[in-house]
Amino acid sequence: MKVEFLNLKKVNQRYEDELIRACSDVVKSGYFIDGEQVHAFEQEFAQFCGVRYCIGTGNGLDALSLVFRAWKEMGKLREGDEVIVPANTFIATVLAINANGLVPVMVEPDAATFNITAQTVVQAITTRTRVILPVHLYGQMAPMQELIELANAHNLLILEDSAQAHGAEIDAQPAGSWGHAAAFSFYPGKNLGALGDAGGVTTNDDELAALVSAMRNYGSSEKYHHQYAGVNSRLDEIQAAMLRVKLRYLKEETTQRRVIIERYLHTINNPLIKLPTAVIEEAHVWHLFVIQTEHRDALQSWLANHNIKTLIHYPIAIHKQPAFQHLKHLQLPVTEQLHKKILSLPLSAAMTSEEVDYVISCLNSFQP
Ligand SMILES: *Cc1c(COP(=O)(O)O)cnc(C)c1O
Repeated sequence: MKVEFLNLKKVNQRYEDELIRACSDVVKSGYFIDGEQVHAFEQEFAQFCGVRYCIGTGNGLDALSLVFRAWKEMGKLREGDEVIVPANTFIATVLAINANGLVPVMVEPDAATFNITAQTVVQAITTRTRVILPVHLYGQMAPMQELIELANAHNLLILEDSAQAHGAEIDAQPAGSWGHAAAFSFYPGKNLGALGDAGGVTTNDDELAALVSAMRNYGSSEKYHHQYAGVNSRLDEIQAAMLRVKLRYLKEETTQRRVIIERYLHTINNPLIKLPTAVIEEAHVWHLFVIQTEHRDALQSWLANHNIKTLIHYPIAIHKQPAFQHLKHLQLPVTEQLHKKILSLPLSAAMTSEEVDYVISCLNSFQP
């Protein structure tokens, strides 16, 4: 048997007829940018997240970056301000901070949940701190109640990186509705994935929503009138139409992921493998299932020899990347250890139970 990490062809095949029909409707409509598909998706996704606004963008990186740009325009941020961010995130989170002349302050995650905690964040707060940027890593929400308390006590903004957490919730309140703003990615491999690049910002703030909306469209809210020096990062009609189809199945797909995860959590019993911790099981949407082992490379080869594809999210810590030479002096032992031990198992809503059984049996028979 051969098990792929994530077979996007199989995932999207399930909706093929609907996707093709939605695409064809856009072709026939003659509207490709800023039309009714984008407006409808923005409304539907805002409702899904329990917020007033969703503003579509070209991708998740731009969604993060546009929030910072808008906050600078609103006078809430200035160049050189510090943004507290987990050290073990995808590079986009830190690139968005950097691109806006802000300073990333990297904090260690909790090694069991992979997320930052109020304890690690509070130690990093200085007089220059303006923003906390929690990442709901691998589909599990950061401890938002505690982080919001901290933010309120220190008068800080919160931007949620929700790129991996569509539909995750704490106390029935969804990811993307906790912070002052949130950024989502709809990259094809995300839990809600387009058939190309796409992203979005969610917020309840009228002024921020209007600014991001203008900023993504050349700084203009009225054609050929440019109030800001904006960018071009719009969600297009075809991707919005694809996302509207996929959004209708997101809850069902999350349930299917959870069924697989139940099996992973309860039948992987190799003592060399540490399973991930779900703080609240029903709140986790399992974008990735990430195990830890001292024998990571040997396990990955063992699985590869059994035709099981795994990935590492992420193999190199951000402060060890050539692009961030100026961060290389940082000492982040928890993060560095994690990057050596983590391994992401195959996971998608389209995975068969035979595939899940096979992965589990190969994991349980592993010996270094
Ligand atoms: C995917 C991702 C992004 C960036 O999204 P893109 O759409 O690829 O630009 C940002 N943050 C995290 C945590 C991500 O996983």
